[in-house]
Amino acid sequence: MTGAGIVVVGGGVAGFSAVQELRSRGYEGPLSVVSPEGLPYDRPPLSKGYLLGTEDAEKIQLAPASWYPEHDVAVVASRAAALELDGARPALTLDDGTRLAADRLLLATGGLPRPLAVPGGETALTLRSRADSDALRALLEPGTRLTIVGAGLIGAEVASAAASLGAEVTLVDPVETPLAPAVGEDLARRLHSMHAERGIRTVVGLPERISDAPQHAPDAARYLVHLADGSAVPADVVLAAIGIAPDTALAEAAGLEVEDGVLVGPDGATSHPAVFAAGDAVRVRQPGGVVGVPLRRAEHWEAAVRSGQAAAAGMLGEAPPEFGAPWFWSDRHGVHVEAAGTMDPRRAPGARTVLRVADGVAAAAFLLAEDGHLLGCAAVDQPLVVRAARRIIDRGIIPDPQRLADPSVDPRKLTR
Ligand SMILES: Cc1cc2nc3c(=O)[nH]c(=O)nc-3n(C[C@H](O)[C@H](O)[C@H](O)COP(=O)(O)OP(=O)(O)OC[C@H]3O[C@@H](n4cnc5c(N)ncnc54)[C@H](O)[C@@H]3O)c2cc1C
Repeated sequence: MTGAGIVVVGGGVAGFSAVQELRSRGYEGPLSVVSPEGLPYDRPPLSKGYLLGTEDAEKIQLAPASWYPEHDVAVVASRAAALELDGARPALTLDDGTRLAADRLLLATGGLPRPLAVPGGETALTLRSRADSDALRALLEPGTRLTIVGAGLIGAEVASAAASLGAEVTLVDPVETPLAPAVGEDLARRLHSMHAERGIRTVVGLPERISDAPQHAPDAARYLVHLADGSAVPADVVLAAIGIAPDTALAEAAGLEVEDGVLVGPDGATSHPAVFAAGDAVRVRQPGGVVGVPLRRAEHWEAAVRSGQAAAAGMLGEAPPEFGAPWFWSDRHGVHVEAAGTMDPRRAPGARTVLRVADGVAAAAFLLAEDGHLLGCAAVDQPLVVRAARRIIDRGIIPDPQRLADPSVDPRKLTR
């Protein structure tokens, strides 16, 4: 058995942020990251610049190779096959049989794409890793018929990238206005309509099965994606972009408390005192509020960074930093989308939406609670508006709805 100190399982942004935070908080003990794909890398470019070929593998690394020896961090390019918690210290068995013990262990195992659970669904690709992005990219040529099931964040980004690579893209989603819970109805409508403006076919439908297409003509597509209304979409390549499930395999097998995510406190503490967890794999227990009901899982980059940092503090026995409203971004069709807080009115009865319209289009949307507090903001190409909204939410300011709506009001003055 080798090792001790702190071992991080998973080389995504949560694991990497924890490692970075441990060193910047002055932790000087042994530190390793178990990362089967080698040096930690970032996932958002996999559906954007990396898929397009404008960013390469080195560019998307979370730190250059030299950073790890400089910070005395060992990267163990193996998969953790099992976690044992019945000894004095947590111990991992790696897939090459090596055993690795830890004083503190962080599970940052991320998420796994949900498979398309219909007959023939196994033919659909998914996108989570660099290898997935490579495999998809290799199939995208001008004229490739790509059908994407799921028009959420990743589906829409891939549609945009694939269309600019010349693919003929069809986006299938059972919902008329995908993303409405994330950015509000108005911006979701605007964003979804951009697909059709750029030659992407959008179909409201529910896939029921995927079959091989009849090969009568030389240009016959490889597959048919059959929808519930009886229609079928021809496809050379099918991508399922229908969300993720938390990767809780190690945690569950080790007997940790898991409920649609490894259950953790605000400091990443799991049900075992020496094991912490962070990132897309976790669900945070609510500190106050509804007793016993954990928060929804966050599946965004910044949330993963923050939870990695919080778990680093937790592993050192320090208080986790306070973080404000959650935030995410998305890039597609040359526009930059950001959202902070929540834009889902179902989570706040009585809430109302205020729009900021610029040049005739909805540029930003604000969700205001019944009492006037700002709950969320989403915007297209308006990062300063979202930044201001975040401050308003975090400070609990009650904003003037007229100033929010007025595009001539400088976003930097919205907090006053
Ligand atoms: C294509 C794509 C585009 C995205 N775009 C955006 C965006 O624009 N904006 C945004 O806010 N968010 C975006 N996200 C979401 C964001 O990237 C994730 O929230 C973030 O990567 C989660 O980080 P994580 O470290 O928790 O998990 P991951 O990044 O999934 O990392 C987990 C790591 O753990 C490893 N692992 C799992 N099991 C084991 C094991 N047993 N042993 C060792 N290692 C293991 C995995 O191989 C993986 O490397 C995107 C995600 C994807 C996939």
